[in-house]
Amino acid sequence: MKQEYDIIIIGSGISGLAAAHFLKKLKADVSVLLLEKGDRAGGAIKSFRQNGFLAEWGPHGFLDNVPESREILHDTGLDKEAQQAPLGDFYRYVCHQGKLVALPQKPQKLLTTPLLTISEKLRLLGDFRIKPLKEDQNIGRWAARRFGRGVLPLVDAALTGTFAGDYQRLSIDAVMPGLRRLEIEHGSVLRGLKRKAKNKKNKALPAMNNFPQGLERLVEVLQKDKKIIFNCPVEQLAYHDNKWRITTERKNFSTPKLVMALPVNGALPLLAQLETPPLIAIPLARIFNVVMGFTDRAEIPYGFGYLAPEKENRFTLGAMFSSHMFPDRAPQGHVLLEALVGGRRHPEKLKLDDEEIVSRVYDDLRQLIKLPEPPVFVKVLRPESGIPQLEMDHPRLLAWRQRLEEKYPDLYISGFGWDGISINDMTKSARRKAEAIVAGKRKTTEKVPVKPVYF
Ligand SMILES: Cc1cc2nc3c(=O)[nH]c(=O)nc-3n(C[C@H](O)[C@H](O)[C@H](O)COP(=O)(O)OP(=O)(O)OC[C@H]3O[C@@H](n4cnc5c(N)ncnc54)[C@H](O)[C@@H]3O)c2cc1C
Repeated sequence: MKQEYDIIIIGSGISGLAAAHFLKKLKADVSVLLLEKGDRAGGAIKSFRQNGFLAEWGPHGFLDNVPESREILHDTGLDKEAQQAPLGDFYRYVCHQGKLVALPQKPQKLLTTPLLTISEKLRLLGDFRIKPLKEDQNIGRWAARRFGRGVLPLVDAALTGTFAGDYQRLSIDAVMPGLRRLEIEHGSVLRGLKRKAKNKKNKALPAMNNFPQGLERLVEVLQKDKKIIFNCPVEQLAYHDNKWRITTERKNFSTPKLVMALPVNGALPLLAQLETPPLIAIPLARIFNVVMGFTDRAEIPYGFGYLAPEKENRFTLGAMFSSHMFPDRAPQGHVLLEALVGGRRHPEKLKLDDEEIVSRVYDDLRQLIKLPEPPVFVKVLRPESGIPQLEMDHPRLLAWRQRLEEKYPDLYISGFGWDGISINDMTKSARRKAEAIVAGKRKTTEKVPVKPVYF
């Protein structure tokens, strides 16, 4: 087996696969090898099929508003297979005082929503006159200062939906750099959004992409023409004579250019062999997915699903109404709901056995949704992957990564939790790394866009 490649990528999750895809696209004659610890590609992306139900172990889709992901779909022909669930057509609900209440789909609907009192609505306007603070803040503190404490349950729901995180620990600079830039440049988030909206042509909300076979289809297609060695965990890294020496359990490899495409906590022990990082690990939020199939007598409200802020004190973090988004996910005459449990604040719930988890989720859901019969299908999925939490130490870690990449110009560090946490964040970062490798130089800092949807 050849042991020297132009580029070696460690990890064959979406970050590694997307980096390999863009590298081959930008420079067809480079040799690229992926080294993978496990016996399959895709990392956190894995679909689940049983008894006619189709669910997901990890991600449930990605929004169609990021050019790099659209490019992958186009290049692979997957754009013809992709199914879309447009956010503009589906309600998203928040659990509020023990009931599901639809989130306002348009800014003007904020005026009539029961989710905020009149004084809380008026307080939102305080944002226009409150001066931005320079220093990083946790998102709870930042949002309360700008918009008032009334918005905190909604902020909590948003960060539960994306990070399964704790909004009082997540860093505004790390999680929402685009919004933060708007605040600093315009002196107010609302003023910045208003000015941006004026120039924006397409005001529609994005759609969620998935595939009739599940999200794993993306992995299946992307890995087809790639050289991947499975069951090959990388154990050691060293850099001598302009070459990376990579030690794995099975073989040693060398390459002039190395891409680390690993979640932060997978990368840190390897990078620590080059230079001591400021942290040995970052916190993870693990979540279990309780897959529940009901007959269509279940009256699941029309929409994507709901999220429950911590103050509601529910067992379940929220649930996706999966067969509303993608109807083929349940057999004829049935509906599929996927409930999420655990997260940053409730790791203790992950210690419960399946029977208890299912019974507590079902009790919880029955208080919010009309479920006249128990589920006809149940499965608790316990993914190993957790969601990296970009908390107050994160900017320090990113500054360290930047210094390390400057010290080792042939080292490219991407992956889950470095440049964001979504699939779209991963494809975007993978393209930037591939462009830098092919061009032989990195781009200087780039403006981070403001995301239109955080959940
Ligand atoms: C429960 C959950 C729900 C999510 N929901 C969504 C969602 O709805 N939408 C969305 O956009 N994103 C979602 N995400 C995030 C999304 O899954 C990630 O952004 C993405 O999968 C990260 O890809 P990655 O390749 O960076 O990391 P991973 O998917 O973790 O892949 C890393 C790969 O590297 C391998 N590896 C690790 N260590 C080594 C080593 N030493 N040597 C060799 N190989 C190694 C691993 O085996 C793995 O295959 C979710 C994540 C989780 C966990």
